[in-house]
Amino acid sequence: PRGKILVSACFLGHPVRYDGQAKTLDRPLLQEWNALGYLTLACPELAGGLPVPRQAAEIVGGQGLEVLNGTAEVFNRAGYNVSSYFLEGAHKTLQMALHHGVIAAFLKQRSPSCGTREAYDGTFSGQVITGIGVTAALLQQKGIPAFGEDQWDKLLSFVT
Ligand code: SF4
Repeated sequence: PRGKILVSACFLGHPVRYDGQAKTLDRPLLQEWNALGYLTLACPELAGGLPVPRQAAEIVGGQGLEVLNGTAEVFNRAGYNVSSYFLEGAHKTLQMALHHGVIAAFLKQRSPSCGTREAYDGTFSGQVITGIGVTAALLQQKGIPAFGEDQWDKLLSFVT
Protein backbone atom coordinates (compact mmCIF):
# COMPACT_ATOMS: atom_id res chain seq x y z
CA PRO A 1 0.00 0.00 0.00
CA ARG A 2 1.04 3.64 -0.46
CA GLY A 3 0.52 4.37 3.25
CA LYS A 4 -0.65 3.05 6.58
CA ILE A 5 -4.13 1.64 7.13
CA LEU A 6 -6.14 1.65 10.35
CA VAL A 7 -7.72 -1.79 10.84
CA SER A 8 -10.29 -3.18 13.28
CA ALA A 9 -8.22 -5.22 15.74
CA CYS A 10 -10.78 -8.07 15.72
CA PHE A 11 -9.93 -8.72 12.02
CA LEU A 12 -6.36 -9.65 13.00
CA GLY A 13 -7.28 -12.23 15.61
CA HIS A 14 -7.57 -10.05 18.67
CA PRO A 15 -10.45 -11.36 20.83
CA VAL A 16 -11.87 -7.91 21.59
CA ARG A 17 -15.47 -8.19 20.40
CA TYR A 18 -18.38 -7.79 22.80
CA ASP A 19 -18.63 -11.59 23.02
CA GLY A 20 -14.92 -12.04 23.74
CA GLN A 21 -14.24 -13.43 20.26
CA ALA A 22 -12.18 -12.23 17.31
CA LYS A 23 -13.52 -11.93 13.76
CA THR A 24 -10.37 -13.05 11.99
CA LEU A 25 -10.34 -12.40 8.24
CA ASP A 26 -8.73 -14.87 5.88
CA ARG A 27 -6.90 -12.25 3.80
CA PRO A 28 -3.25 -13.22 3.28
CA LEU A 29 -2.45 -9.74 1.95
CA LEU A 30 -3.73 -8.21 5.18
CA GLN A 31 -1.49 -10.53 7.21
CA GLU A 32 1.43 -9.57 4.98
CA TRP A 33 0.78 -5.84 5.40
CA ASN A 34 0.57 -6.39 9.15
CA ALA A 35 3.90 -8.21 9.19
CA LEU A 36 5.46 -5.37 7.20
CA GLY A 37 4.16 -2.73 9.62
CA TYR A 38 1.60 -1.09 7.34
CA LEU A 39 -1.34 -1.62 9.70
CA THR A 40 -2.39 0.32 12.77
CA LEU A 41 -4.71 -1.93 14.77
CA ALA A 42 -7.44 -0.35 16.86
CA CYS A 43 -10.52 -1.37 18.79
CA PRO A 44 -12.50 1.83 19.41
CA GLU A 45 -14.71 0.26 22.07
CA LEU A 46 -11.71 -0.84 24.13
CA ALA A 47 -10.06 2.53 23.53
CA GLY A 48 -13.22 4.14 24.89
CA GLY A 49 -12.92 2.22 28.15
CA LEU A 50 -15.32 -0.68 27.64
CA PRO A 51 -14.32 -4.17 28.83
CA VAL A 52 -14.21 -7.57 27.11
CA PRO A 53 -16.65 -9.18 27.14
CA ARG A 54 -19.32 -6.49 27.21
CA GLN A 55 -22.99 -6.13 26.43
CA ALA A 56 -23.82 -5.77 22.74
CA ALA A 57 -24.71 -2.19 21.85
CA GLU A 58 -26.72 -0.50 19.09
CA ILE A 59 -27.30 3.09 18.02
CA VAL A 60 -30.82 4.37 18.69
CA GLY A 61 -32.37 7.37 16.94
CA GLY A 62 -29.88 7.80 14.13
CA GLN A 63 -26.42 6.66 13.09
CA GLY A 64 -22.80 7.47 13.89
CA LEU A 65 -23.00 11.05 12.63
CA GLU A 66 -26.01 11.75 14.82
CA VAL A 67 -24.22 10.30 17.86
CA LEU A 68 -21.34 12.66 17.09
CA ASN A 69 -23.64 15.67 17.01
CA GLY A 70 -25.62 14.57 20.05
CA THR A 71 -28.94 13.76 18.39
CA ALA A 72 -28.71 9.96 18.71
CA GLU A 73 -27.40 7.69 21.43
CA VAL A 74 -25.80 4.29 21.87
CA PHE A 75 -27.48 1.87 24.28
CA ASN A 76 -26.32 -1.54 25.37
CA ARG A 77 -28.59 -4.54 25.52
CA ALA A 78 -29.13 -3.92 29.23
CA GLY A 79 -30.56 -0.47 28.41
CA TYR A 80 -27.58 1.54 29.67
CA ASN A 81 -26.57 4.64 27.71
CA VAL A 82 -22.98 4.00 26.60
CA SER A 83 -22.68 6.94 24.18
CA SER A 84 -19.83 8.54 26.12
CA TYR A 85 -17.69 5.39 25.76
CA PHE A 86 -18.34 5.27 22.02
CA LEU A 87 -17.52 8.95 21.58
CA GLU A 88 -14.33 8.61 23.63
CA GLY A 89 -13.35 5.56 21.58
CA ALA A 90 -14.00 7.34 18.29
CA HIS A 91 -11.90 10.37 19.26
CA LYS A 92 -9.04 8.22 20.60
CA THR A 93 -9.08 6.16 17.40
CA LEU A 94 -9.00 9.33 15.30
CA GLN A 95 -6.00 10.57 17.31
CA MET A 96 -4.27 7.24 16.71
CA ALA A 97 -5.03 7.44 12.99
CA LEU A 98 -3.66 10.98 12.76
CA HIS A 99 -0.60 10.09 14.83
CA HIS A 100 0.23 7.20 12.49
CA GLY A 101 -0.64 9.17 9.35
CA VAL A 102 -3.08 6.56 8.06
CA ILE A 103 -4.56 7.09 4.61
CA ALA A 104 -7.62 4.82 5.01
CA ALA A 105 -9.45 2.57 7.45
CA PHE A 106 -10.59 -1.02 7.05
CA LEU A 107 -13.32 -1.71 9.57
CA LYS A 108 -15.80 -4.35 10.71
CA GLN A 109 -19.19 -3.95 9.12
CA ARG A 110 -22.34 -3.59 11.31
CA SER A 111 -20.45 -2.64 14.48
CA PRO A 112 -21.91 0.48 16.17
CA SER A 113 -18.32 1.79 16.21
CA CYS A 114 -16.73 0.36 13.09
CA GLY A 115 -19.56 -0.24 10.58
CA THR A 116 -19.10 1.73 7.36
CA ARG A 117 -22.40 1.21 5.54
CA GLU A 118 -24.43 -1.38 7.45
CA ALA A 119 -25.76 -1.23 11.00
CA TYR A 120 -28.29 -2.89 13.27
CA ASP A 121 -31.50 -0.95 13.63
CA GLY A 122 -31.35 -0.23 17.37
CA THR A 123 -33.92 -2.82 18.44
CA PHE A 124 -31.52 -5.74 19.11
CA SER A 125 -33.58 -7.87 16.75
CA GLY A 126 -30.86 -8.56 14.19
CA GLN A 127 -32.43 -6.23 11.60
CA VAL A 128 -29.76 -4.71 9.36
CA ILE A 129 -30.18 -1.22 7.92
CA THR A 130 -27.98 1.20 6.00
CA GLY A 131 -25.88 3.08 8.49
CA ILE A 132 -22.46 3.95 9.82
CA GLY A 133 -20.80 3.52 13.22
CA VAL A 134 -19.52 6.31 15.45
CA THR A 135 -15.81 5.82 14.76
CA ALA A 136 -16.26 5.25 11.02
CA ALA A 137 -18.36 8.43 10.83
CA LEU A 138 -15.74 10.51 12.66
CA LEU A 139 -12.89 9.19 10.50
CA GLN A 140 -14.84 9.94 7.31
CA GLN A 141 -15.74 13.38 8.62
CA LYS A 142 -12.02 14.08 9.12
CA GLY A 143 -11.14 12.94 5.60
CA ILE A 144 -10.05 9.35 6.28
CA PRO A 145 -12.09 7.03 4.04
CA ALA A 146 -13.38 3.91 5.81
CA PHE A 147 -14.14 0.61 4.06
CA GLY A 148 -15.86 -2.49 5.44
CA GLU A 149 -14.83 -6.10 4.85
CA ASP A 150 -17.37 -6.25 2.00
CA GLN A 151 -15.54 -3.33 0.34
CA TRP A 152 -12.10 -4.97 0.13
CA ASP A 153 -11.76 -4.30 -3.58
CA LYS A 154 -12.50 -0.61 -3.06
CA LEU A 155 -9.93 -0.47 -0.25
CA LEU A 156 -7.38 -2.11 -2.53
CA SER A 157 -7.92 0.35 -5.35
CA PHE A 158 -7.71 3.25 -2.91
CA VAL A 159 -4.51 2.23 -1.15
CA THR A 160 -2.48 0.65 -3.96
FE1 SF4 B 1 -13.89 -5.07 16.30
FE2 SF4 B 1 -14.49 -2.47 16.07
FE3 SF4 B 1 -15.99 -4.05 17.60
FE4 SF4 B 1 -13.52 -3.43 18.38
S1 SF4 B 1 -15.22 -1.99 18.14
S2 SF4 B 1 -14.44 -5.45 18.42
S3 SF4 B 1 -12.45 -3.36 16.44
S4 SF4 B 1 -15.74 -4.20 15.39
